Amino acid sequence: MKKTDLTMANGRKVENNQNSITAGSRGPVLMQDVLLMEKLAHFDREEIPERIVHAKGAGAHGTFTVTHDITAYTKASIFAEIGKKTDTFTRFSTVGGERGSADTARDPRGFATKFYTDEGNWDLVGNNTPVFFIRDALKFPDFIHTQKRLPGSNLKSNTMMWDFWAKSPESLHQLTTLFSNRGTPDGFRHMNGYGSHTYSFINTNNERFWVKFHLKTMQGNKTLSAAEATRLAGENPDYATEDLFNNIKEGNFPQWKVHVQIMPEIEAETYRINPFDVTKVWPHGDYPLMEVGILELNKNPENYFAEVEQAAFSPTNKVPGIGFSPDKMLQGRLFSYPDTQRYRLGVNYNSLPINKPKVDVNNGYRNGTMRFDDNGGDTPNYEPSHFAVPTQTDIMDEPPLKIDGDAARYEYDTDENSDFSQAGALYHVMNAKEQEDLISNLTASMVGVPEEILRVQIGHFLKADKEYGERLAKKLNISL
Ligand code: NDP
Repeated sequence: MKKTDLTMANGRKVENNQNSITAGSRGPVLMQDVLLMEKLAHFDREEIPERIVHAKGAGAHGTFTVTHDITAYTKASIFAEIGKKTDTFTRFSTVGGERGSADTARDPRGFATKFYTDEGNWDLVGNNTPVFFIRDALKFPDFIHTQKRLPGSNLKSNTMMWDFWAKSPESLHQLTTLFSNRGTPDGFRHMNGYGSHTYSFINTNNERFWVKFHLKTMQGNKTLSAAEATRLAGENPDYATEDLFNNIKEGNFPQWKVHVQIMPEIEAETYRINPFDVTKVWPHGDYPLMEVGILELNKNPENYFAEVEQAAFSPTNKVPGIGFSPDKMLQGRLFSYPDTQRYRLGVNYNSLPINKPKVDVNNGYRNGTMRFDDNGGDTPNYEPSHFAVPTQTDIMDEPPLKIDGDAARYEYDTDENSDFSQAGALYHVMNAKEQEDLISNLTASMVGVPEEILRVQIGHFLKADKEYGERLAKKLNISL
């Protein structure tokens, strides 16, 4: 490594980095030791607020390559031709634990990818599960509180979790995934990713399609048993981070096949499942997976804080040809994600190198804390104008979305059994060993929870599938 001279923040060279300036060799330290003051002051400010969710994570740079033509559905230039490559950055994470928590905890895994497209950044901010616990963002802070710590003791609490879930039966499908062995994936390379929400595609004819994204691991799905996950949490809490980093370092680049499910806009009106309910999948028999491309992770971050910690993902980052949907949970995230980044990193977070688009950014946004670029120079910061200022184009035009009804606080329009049937279907996707592990993982989490809560919860499992509920009740010694 080339020898460089140590400097202070103002660039002046440091004459002595081992000894503070003192009044005499045994006397107190002098205020005028600005090197000491600056060094300590900077150190005191090294930490930024950790993410409220997804605090512990690992990430890598990569490439998305188109393998199949989907231009009939979307005009997004990232999909323009087979063979087209786009740079990416992906961050994996657990959800509930703090920044130093164990990678192998039973928890969904975040799977967020930023595509630096030639039309701006597109972020696909999903999980390793195709569905979610709740479907209205109004419940999100309550749900996350149950995943964190009790206000009094600062302890985690299974009672708090099951109390909330028993009162939120729409969570049953996601719970069946979480307590299956897929709730403890063997590192980040051996799990699928899902966009989870329904998004939209708009094609060159200005037609809208509803779309779901699936990223299937090409390393194969591999999971940890509950015992292995617990052992690793103690022996190597950074198990998944290390596995990802070392494999990329050794040139063993992980890949995912990216697929979409496509629903023509009109079919949403009559489809038997509410297609905007994030607690539901679209069964493959109804909407088969269509292959689109391959995501490969092939470069480790050089600096964890600059690249992984400062990476800011948001579903608001979309490009022409990709849009939102009326999914209420997605709508809430459209506010919450950029809002949390403004709080965590500051209002200019999109200018940080890892978040900066590879296209020119021209707008009237000015000033704010930590404005570290040229702040728009001397171009006018308003529009419209008679001078040469950035102006709108119609490229983001979308067809109008038909809406009817009165504004009110509606429940999701699902029939009563629909909260349970897909959880039952998942139970039957599992083989005998996976079912056995599911029951055992659930039981381990439910032991000690008050019977009043368990009885309600077992009622939900029975509705999903009689055998599923009965096995659980038996294992918990609860008579039906
Ligand atoms: P399919 O039989 O076509 O698909 C089953 C899906 O389940 C596959 O995507 C498979 O993913 C996944 N899977 C297999 N084993 C497990 C497991 N142990 N834990 C979690 N997921 C697993 O069925 P349908 O599309 O008709 O859906 C049936 C049920 O499958 C749904 O109710 C849902 O719970 C689950 N599922 C459905 C998905 C969808 O988008 N339709 C996506 C994921 C799960 P893989 O190929 O990676 O093994």
